[in-house]
Amino acid sequence: MSQTFKGGVHPPYRKAPEIPVTVITPPAQLIIPMAQHISAPCQPLVKKGDLVTMGQKIGENPAPVSAPVHSPVSGKVVAVEPRPHPLGDTIMSIVIENDFQDTPCTDLAPLSEKELKDPEAILDRIREAGVVGMGGAMFPTAFKIRGGIGKVDKLIINGAECEPYLNGDHLTMLNFSEELLKGIELVRIASGVEKAYYGIEVNKQDAIDKLNSLHPEKYGIEIVPEAVKYPQGGEKMPVKAVTGREVKPVGLPSGEGANVVSTRTCYAIYQACYEGKPVIERIVTVSGSALKGTVNALTRVGTPLGYLAEQCGGFVKTPRKIVLGGPMMGICATSFEAPTIKGTAGVLFFTEEEDAHVDNPTCIRCGKCIEVCPMNLEPVFMYMYYSKGDFANMDKYHVNDCFECGSCAFNCPARMPLTHAFKTAKLMFQAKAAAEKAKEAK
Ligand code: SF4
Ligand code: SF4
Repeated sequence: MSQTFKGGVHPPYRKAPEIPVTVITPPAQLIIPMAQHISAPCQPLVKKGDLVTMGQKIGENPAPVSAPVHSPVSGKVVAVEPRPHPLGDTIMSIVIENDFQDTPCTDLAPLSEKELKDPEAILDRIREAGVVGMGGAMFPTAFKIRGGIGKVDKLIINGAECEPYLNGDHLTMLNFSEELLKGIELVRIASGVEKAYYGIEVNKQDAIDKLNSLHPEKYGIEIVPEAVKYPQGGEKMPVKAVTGREVKPVGLPSGEGANVVSTRTCYAIYQACYEGKPVIERIVTVSGSALKGTVNALTRVGTPLGYLAEQCGGFVKTPRKIVLGGPMMGICATSFEAPTIKGTAGVLFFTEEEDAHVDNPTCIRCGKCIEVCPMNLEPVFMYMYYSKGDFANMDKYHVNDCFECGSCAFNCPARMPLTHAFKTAKLMFQAKAAAEKAKEAK
């Protein structure tokens, strides 16, 4: 039986895994932001005028919660300066003029047979190759795995890819099946557990069949079919689906003895350890009604969004909104010049066709938002108190437990901007806590 969780919704999936992967020619100039992981950004290791090779480390931060960045092409550094970041604002970035030679850097050799069985060697390589949570969270993966050693007895690989449009994980499962299983095995060895559970939604039955045909048990992996329901891929959902354990609100899966690693992250770990390749590219689904059609684009990190759209056939309509990731949890980008980063699984160019915004929406008290919240929250009341700026009641209704999945907003017939409100409310709480701390320090 497929495993699942309470609540959730069924948005139109609009997926197109049958479209084969198109390799995007890297642009003449790439922009590599120093912030591509959670926590403090990297510092540039190169300066204007330096020549770089493909895969060369160009940014580093010695802190444990960090991941270095690497050059996606060979060429010349033409600027080290703040540039638009896809998640907003400007961030220190390295601009590289592509020489179109792809001269490889040889700093990271493939690990030896012995090292491929050694947890420390694997963890060092995961960090050195700049692997972060490529499902979008961009948490440094080596730190995450290390933090779970001795505490985590269930390793879960997230293969739900439940966000509409996105196909990169599904295509990785189909096109790089054996490599993916080897990548999962490396995570399992590094985590010090006997078995990894790979949860995959049953709308990817072809991938489940293919992976099962390769005897995943040889790698210490069990494939767990999951029901098709959004947000099955949210980090807490597969823990419940696979282990039956409930991750506490504002808690992490590791608090329940589980670690969750995404499909694409496991494939990046395979490339880092078996091929000596750092994170410099990924499959990005490029779609939306502003474009002719969907393209599953193998894209170098640092590719400007406008260039990517051009390579995918250009616009047939003027886009009204650029969404990075999927439409449910994705973040709006504000600049065509901003580049893709390690966590970019999708770039959606939406017109008014997909934009559900209405002016001055009014709640009709139908309760449909409550029915679907996978965290058992009551969005209607959270919103009411958010509108009044009532911190005490927002707290009482656990606004900080919301993980912004967007299910309530999707199910709301009045199109109330619920998720946006809860994102803002959480930021308001953070700002309030920081102000109180500063006041106490005086
Ligand atoms: S309240 Fe938060 S967690 Fe619950 S459905 Fe809405 S966005 Fe998702
Ligand atoms: S679903 Fe929308 S309209 Fe219905 S109670 Fe919730 S916020 Fe109000």
